[in-house]
Amino acid sequence: FKGFAMKKIGETGWVEKEVPECGPMDAIIKPTCVSPCTSDIHTVWEGAIGERTDMVLGHEAVGEVVEVGSLVKKFKPGDKVIVPAITPDWDDEASQRGFPSQTTEPLGGWKFSNFKDGVFGERFHVNMADANLTILPDGLSDEAAVMLVDMWSTGMMGSENADIPLGGSVLVIGIGAVGLSAIAGAKLLGAGRLFAAGTRPISVEVAKKYGATDIINYREGPIDEQVRELTGGEGVDSVIIAGGNLENTWKEAISSAKAGGTVSNVNYLSGADNVLIPRVEWGCGMSNISIHNGLCPGGAVRMERLADLALYGRQDPELLVTHKFKGLDKIEDALYLMKEKPKDLIKPVVMLDLD
Ligand code: NAD
Ligand code: ZN
Repeated sequence: FKGFAMKKIGETGWVEKEVPECGPMDAIIKPTCVSPCTSDIHTVWEGAIGERTDMVLGHEAVGEVVEVGSLVKKFKPGDKVIVPAITPDWDDEASQRGFPSQTTEPLGGWKFSNFKDGVFGERFHVNMADANLTILPDGLSDEAAVMLVDMWSTGMMGSENADIPLGGSVLVIGIGAVGLSAIAGAKLLGAGRLFAAGTRPISVEVAKKYGATDIINYREGPIDEQVRELTGGEGVDSVIIAGGNLENTWKEAISSAKAGGTVSNVNYLSGADNVLIPRVEWGCGMSNISIHNGLCPGGAVRMERLADLALYGRQDPELLVTHKFKGLDKIEDALYLMKEKPKDLIKPVVMLDLD
């Protein structure tokens, strides 16, 4: 099959590959809608997970089942399915400890476009189909569903990990698709005042629709100083990091949190070797400000629950989709658009009509 790949760090291109073998518990999928992720950009152009050779990119997809293994009970060829970006090994010990995204090795639940071919091709392989796939429900479009598999799942995990008290104050740093999803999650989890730090006009608009009450422009001064000013010096209960850099963002996050508060990171850190935690702002290590982090949750149940948030009108995932392409060849354009991040972009999707 044909796929769009990372040829090596800094280089992409089309490759021809054999359709992978379908194990007894697995499935082979033909994608009908895919979306590039900022993580693909970190992986290719920053080499953030190290060298990869001719690896098909992409981990956000909705598709059609073309083949299932002999032990698969819930799916058959022709079924339309939501494919989570993260497909854990549910029998692994890390799953039993409660961390399915970290199975077999750190970040090991993340297989597509990390250590196996991803979804930017005519076919791809899914492990443990019964536990990982979900039927695409009626009433949810492909474009909406593809926003759940990584963006909503990751962003909303950011808010779940942020220990938001009912009515508590929240700051979300970075309002790309992940930060916006964190805003949506924070509102659903009961945030009172909700600060969003970002500048792209389209993102600011969606941030308000998803529940942000205050917008902070980080180009007008340090975020923590602006938050402290707006809160009469108090700071916020919960901070979610979904963008930014290693020079300023961690200082701004820690220093925006109240004593006893939580900083929850979902950003894929790259560009330097160390994360600098500011000593004094962290109460010399004694301020009870907790730091949480995690990889996007995957699996069927997570996807069903996120789909219900959309189906029952809690939030609208399609607000994140700003650009639509058609045809396999356009995957390249969509990925480069994601790399360039024009001002009117949140997320592009590519609709596919494959044989
Ligand atoms: P994005 O690039 O669209 O959004 C990040 C935003 O941060 C941008 O709008 C950017 O302008 C803004 N920003 C830049 N500098 C800033 C600063 N100094 N202060 C505040 N904001 C600043 O990316 P995205 O698609 O929303 O993804 C966000 C991050 O989440 C990426 O690093 C991505 O790789 C990562 N990610 C992590 C997981 C996970 O499982 N933890 C999953 C998916 C994506
Ligand atoms: Zn991703």
